[in-house]
Amino acid sequence: MKRTECVVPAAEVEIQKDFIRKIKEINQGRLLKYSLSTFGCQMNENDSERLAGMLSDMGYMETEKNSDSDLIIFNTCCVRENAEEKVYGHLGALKKLKRENPNLIIAVCGCMMQQPEVVEYIKKTYRHVELVFGTHNLYKFPELLYNAVNSKETIIDVWESSGSIVENLPIERKDGVKAWVTIMYGCNNFCSYCIVPYVRGRERSRSVSDIVHEVMTLGQQGYKEITLLGQNVNSYGKDLSDGTSFAGLLHELDKVEGIERIRFMTSHPKDLSDDLIYAMRDCKKVCEHLHLPIQAGSTRILNEMNRKYTKEHYLDLMKKIKEIIPEIALTTDIIVGFPGETEEDFLETLDVMQTVRYDSAYTFLYSKRTGTPAAKMESQVSEETKKERFQRLLEVQNRISKANNEELLGQVVEILVDGTSKNNPEMFTGRTRTNKIVNFKGNDELVGKLIQVRINKIQTWSLEGEVI
Ligand code: SF4
Repeated sequence: MKRTECVVPAAEVEIQKDFIRKIKEINQGRLLKYSLSTFGCQMNENDSERLAGMLSDMGYMETEKNSDSDLIIFNTCCVRENAEEKVYGHLGALKKLKRENPNLIIAVCGCMMQQPEVVEYIKKTYRHVELVFGTHNLYKFPELLYNAVNSKETIIDVWESSGSIVENLPIERKDGVKAWVTIMYGCNNFCSYCIVPYVRGRERSRSVSDIVHEVMTLGQQGYKEITLLGQNVNSYGKDLSDGTSFAGLLHELDKVEGIERIRFMTSHPKDLSDDLIYAMRDCKKVCEHLHLPIQAGSTRILNEMNRKYTKEHYLDLMKKIKEIIPEIALTTDIIVGFPGETEEDFLETLDVMQTVRYDSAYTFLYSKRTGTPAAKMESQVSEETKKERFQRLLEVQNRISKANNEELLGQVVEILVDGTSKNNPEMFTGRTRTNKIVNFKGNDELVGKLIQVRINKIQTWSLEGEVI
């Protein structure tokens, strides 16, 4: 694990650092442990790295076992219903542990807590939960934990919104080679199926200098790859009104020593500018991979989704990107069974898939999110139809993914080595610049290095190669 800190001082953060010191004093001489479960997207993972950084400074050690823990935290996600159900399941299962260990503190935070009905439900149903906080006041975690430790009451502190960005928080990253760097928070788009703008607030961009400083520190610490995170990174800088743009940020980060690869996610087709495409072409460290969610192929459904682009605009964009960056790998997100989706609409999605020939597609069954316009729409698609369409999409995409991979057979590619493969501990694994997984026979010394590998075996979701 590696640690890093942003530099911008903030009076509020100093107050929290005082609470960190107070908790550390209380904890002195005791070996306190925490377990932290993260649900949802990479932005939540990055938030959890900040919680871990603060906890480490307070003298807590991480454990994977709830039964060993003095503090159990769930950093939640509300984008899909099953992630919410999982959290409730975990909370229910902890009742017994709390009875056996009354000093145990159970905390929940993250996007789910930004919904008042969820907080009410937790208050009523899971009385053993002692700390609840949201996405906007994560930086106040030391103070809230201090209060939870010293009070018999449940501490609930959820802010409706926040216009601020807090720098200078400790962070403990899970990986020593690749790092997530959040460049902006919130979203202004209000896609009709999505809960994010309601729980993460409006777009707020970090300053270029803060981001560059964080990335320079990462480069000095030996990190090789960064992934810039935001709900819609293409609109980075629009709220700063000083001419800052995402393309400009990429040019700045391209100069940072030590960093070899730059990735970003997620992009919105309506905001993908020509400047950005040319920046991707011209910045040597920006990888040849673009994740551009289409969500649906039918312009009628895109309109219902409030996506603000048409099928034709999206396809033109893809054509342009392929012309300017021929080696680009393209991936996407697709929602199957949005309310009112007919067979004809669905065929348009299949058509986009076959026209673009994505390297991979993350396909989701539409799931109703309370509080979004789509949840109230009539003509919801039956589960059976959604599943049947999902299966058809998967079959087409699998064929395309494999065919795209076949073009790499015999080629030599550069990979950044991650470590041993999760599925086969005898193999090592890494990723190409185009984000494809390559497994190979290697050794520990290669971890964190850029190496050349010849591809000699193809699968749908991964490649195999030999080091040359
Ligand atoms: S762009 Fe749309 S789907 Fe993405 S976070 Fe914003 S509202 Fe949600």
